[in-house]
Amino acid sequence: MGEWLYATSLNESPKANGAADMRSVEVTAVLLARGLLEVYDLAEASGKAVQQDASLPVSARRAMTLLSRLCLETGAAEDLGGNIHDVMHMACAPFRDWGLRPLAPPFPYADVSLIDRDLGVPTEDCREMARQGGSEVAAHEELQHEALRTAVAGYPPRQRSAAYTAIRELVVRRPVIRVSDLLEFVTSGGHYAATQAIQSFYRPIPQAALFGGAARLCGHCGSLLWPERDVSAHPDGRCRIRQCRLAHPGSLRGEDIAEPGEWKLATAASLAFWVGPGLDEIRIHDALLAAGRASVLYPEADAADVGVDELEVGIDVKTYASPVVLAARLSHSVGRLGIFRERILAVPDDKIRLNPRYLEQLRASYCGTVPLRFMTSSQAIRELAR
Ligand SMILES: [Zn+2]
Repeated sequence: MGEWLYATSLNESPKANGAADMRSVEVTAVLLARGLLEVYDLAEASGKAVQQDASLPVSARRAMTLLSRLCLETGAAEDLGGNIHDVMHMACAPFRDWGLRPLAPPFPYADVSLIDRDLGVPTEDCREMARQGGSEVAAHEELQHEALRTAVAGYPPRQRSAAYTAIRELVVRRPVIRVSDLLEFVTSGGHYAATQAIQSFYRPIPQAALFGGAARLCGHCGSLLWPERDVSAHPDGRCRIRQCRLAHPGSLRGEDIAEPGEWKLATAASLAFWVGPGLDEIRIHDALLAAGRASVLYPEADAADVGVDELEVGIDVKTYASPVVLAARLSHSVGRLGIFRERILAVPDDKIRLNPRYLEQLRASYCGTVPLRFMTSSQAIRELAR
């Protein structure tokens, strides 16, 4: 069944030879994203480790076959598509580093890593690419947002928006929190209706995160520093939040937590979808507040990441590695950012350090109908803090 389904959904407009080749490489990449996402979903739902057998989702097997074919066609030294564990390992690195010429620039997804090596979850680029593939893959990110929206639906209507903001802001600002502080947040803020959801955003601090019985905070983002095998390179441990490491190449040791049993850590989903992207959201919001602007985080239950002067200015921060993937996502939909009079799409400053043409490529690739202004977080602060 797969053959023609993919052929019709992804390869419907046969082009001249060269373009068709590029297209088939893109299809392989999109199917790899979709396959790995399904592998991850399956492993998470069943609680079992990924097996190289009949339990592997069809999409993953199909993607691996296409990868093997690509290796064969390009005369690669080895077959990279033979084993799911090898593929998952490679997928932690950007396509450009896979050692296959067609996956290196100008391949549009060259910068994309499909799996976040530290958190062990599919990256936001991976989820978006999978969505482009037209699949009905459950989007973990949406589920995470939905859990909070459902929880605040139990509040009186006039309190919902503020409750949404307070709870999400708590997770972003306090990815590691004392259990007693979490309870205090619930009681003093009157968040009883959302107790279960709030608890579901946190988990106990894992043994693997401890340094001889104690946990250690990242001095930059407030999540954890994790012990690394290479102690000489990371004597204090290493933060697993990609956006934090990109913004701060040097690690900073924060407070030590002597009784980790009395603390909680945000779940992998909370870290990946809220805390990581949230670092710049908080940075912008705090800078605008300090400049006297009426800034609100996640206004109207997440119509934007930062709202200024009610519905005057809406700012969304996106941390995608690839401007091409981000542009595709935005061209598909900007969500409720459209309700603001002026709409700003901000990307962390480090994107420009890594790819000086990031904003240019983003503008060139965006073809949505809602006009957006693209800038870095610092540019957004400079412009709005006046
Ligand atoms: Zn950090």
